[in-house]
Amino acid sequence: MVHNCSSIRNKRDVPASFGIPSFFLKKVVFSLIYSFSRLSQYENCPFRFYLKYVEGREEPVTKPLALGKAVHVGIEKRIQGYTLEDAIVEGYIATGFHPEVERTEMESLIKKAPVETGMGETEVHFELPLSPSPSAPKIQGFIDLVVEDETGVWFADWKTNWQQYGVFDSMQVSLYAWALMEMKGLDEVYGTLYFLRFGQDDRHKFSRDEAEKARQWAYDTAMDIENKLFLLDIGPEAWDRLFPATPSSHCKHCPFALECYQQFGVGL
Ligand code: SF4
Repeated sequence: MVHNCSSIRNKRDVPASFGIPSFFLKKVVFSLIYSFSRLSQYENCPFRFYLKYVEGREEPVTKPLALGKAVHVGIEKRIQGYTLEDAIVEGYIATGFHPEVERTEMESLIKKAPVETGMGETEVHFELPLSPSPSAPKIQGFIDLVVEDETGVWFADWKTNWQQYGVFDSMQVSLYAWALMEMKGLDEVYGTLYFLRFGQDDRHKFSRDEAEKARQWAYDTAMDIENKLFLLDIGPEAWDRLFPATPSSHCKHCPFALECYQQFGVGL
């Protein structure tokens, strides 16, 4: 799909409080590569997606986000052979020394990961088209740990959440299973969600059919967004109908909640 960037730049008509410099809008819209979190954010609330990825609004780095980043880096460094102390320092550095991240909590979570030096590849990056079409949307992501051993190929995603859930409660693990199958030419892989606070996991052997459902979900969602961006291009005044505010439990943690309430009377 070809977007006409000059028409977006010239015709756009959104409230001043949601406006940004037009050169930035052009940059954001035309560099969009999808990820699981982008797709799920669109699915949860198209307006939040719009503010973040079309308007380019910054979202603050909250403590849960910073802690998650620090712990992921710390675990990665442990697998690479760093001492616990050095892994903790690297985790801190990765968060920019976020003031709310506490060493004791970080250390305890890093220590709970069932890992050992050299056990597998960490932060495995993928960037794949979601269909064979040359104009297909692309998806990218980072898989925390990929291991090949006598049981086959498996991967893990570390979670610092206070609540546990299953591998089929979101599309993330199925989608990563599809990506790994694509990259390694496999028909089955094991995917694991590991909840560090509880020392518990949820693991499943994914088949091609299960992985394909995730690819189809990602493709359909990405194409829905692409179509909305095309319509936004030719009729920017429809921005609020194309990307409607969709109140849910996610509003509690949304940085745009106040503006959303003032603009639409929803979200608080
Ligand atoms: S406050 Fe709720 S409805 Fe408004 S943008 Fe955030 S998630 Fe969407």
